[in-house]
Amino acid sequence: MKIKLCKKCGVPLRVSRSQVWHENGVITEKRSPDMRMIFYESEHLDYLFHLLEEIIGVPLEHIVVESKRRDVKEYTEGMIPGPLRRVVRYIGFKPIAGMLSRLGIAYGFGDIKLVESRRRFAEDDYLVMTVRNPHSLLFFLGENLGAWEAIDGRESVIDYQEIGENTYRCTVRIGRHPMELQERLERRRYPFKPGDIHYERCSHCGVPLEIAEYRWNLEDGVIIDPRRNMRMALFSPTGFEAILDDLEAELGEAIPEAVIEAQRRNVKEHMQESIYKGKEYLDFKRMLALNGLGYLSRFELSEEGLDVTIQNSCIQLLMVGMVQGIYELARGVEKSSCEWELVPDGDLNISVRT
Ligand SMILES: [Zn+2]
Repeated sequence: MKIKLCKKCGVPLRVSRSQVWHENGVITEKRSPDMRMIFYESEHLDYLFHLLEEIIGVPLEHIVVESKRRDVKEYTEGMIPGPLRRVVRYIGFKPIAGMLSRLGIAYGFGDIKLVESRRRFAEDDYLVMTVRNPHSLLFFLGENLGAWEAIDGRESVIDYQEIGENTYRCTVRIGRHPMELQERLERRRYPFKPGDIHYERCSHCGVPLEIAEYRWNLEDGVIIDPRRNMRMALFSPTGFEAILDDLEAELGEAIPEAVIEAQRRNVKEHMQESIYKGKEYLDFKRMLALNGLGYLSRFELSEEGLDVTIQNSCIQLLMVGMVQGIYELARGVEKSSCEWELVPDGDLNISVRT
């Protein structure tokens, strides 16, 4: 698989040519500035859902996959106009699989390969793909199914088996969805506020030089943050938010608190205390911005606790759990209390107290 890299900084051009790191803590697609992206720690994405399952005591896999499927299908249908989709339907899934593989490598989704597919426009048509080192197996299943359905046009299902270390064989077949999700309310959009984060940028491709320090392992489809030694992936926060909204619509209003709690535990298990102890505002502010998670405009640490405001926020429930977890790590406390509000202008206020 040929992936073009910037000859100056080594970042895949697929990333630096299509994404912009803005000064206000937001990453967007260059071509569609409404399309937000996050460069997010992906090592424990599936584990987060596992923790959430433990907390609420209900299996979630089918809801997560179905939510992702719906999101990706809608997105793909929006990106590829109907007549072109019909053309692709007859050419076959191969070009789409090639695109997924290249995207997988550049964006850190793992090593994705098309194994075989049969499409005779019959009921026993199928598609088999393998993924090694998926950033999230659940996301991958939903994405794969959604992309297939957008092109094929028929309702389909996906199953998987583990065939090696962190390697899965995923099969799409024509069939009925195991469940239908409720209608989702549209999220309110808000205009982004300006920011003043300055990046030194690659003179050739424009990516912030701090992003160029990340290691792209092109063979495995893995991106590593060398400072935190954590795996990263580049994806849309909207799809992530949609999953959390769908979980709430299906399972009720206890979900937001449970998501915060799952993320709090996730962060406490996996983030090293040393990174945050005694440091502060600037580092955290910069980390959030590089990850596209928003602009930290307030960070007040006192005897009583921590008060934070993140402007241009996204995946808010996860941010609340993250801030709470980081606070507990830094203070060495077992459990804190936390209040938060999302203001309609996009500001996320979080208050943690010991
Ligand atoms: Zn470059």
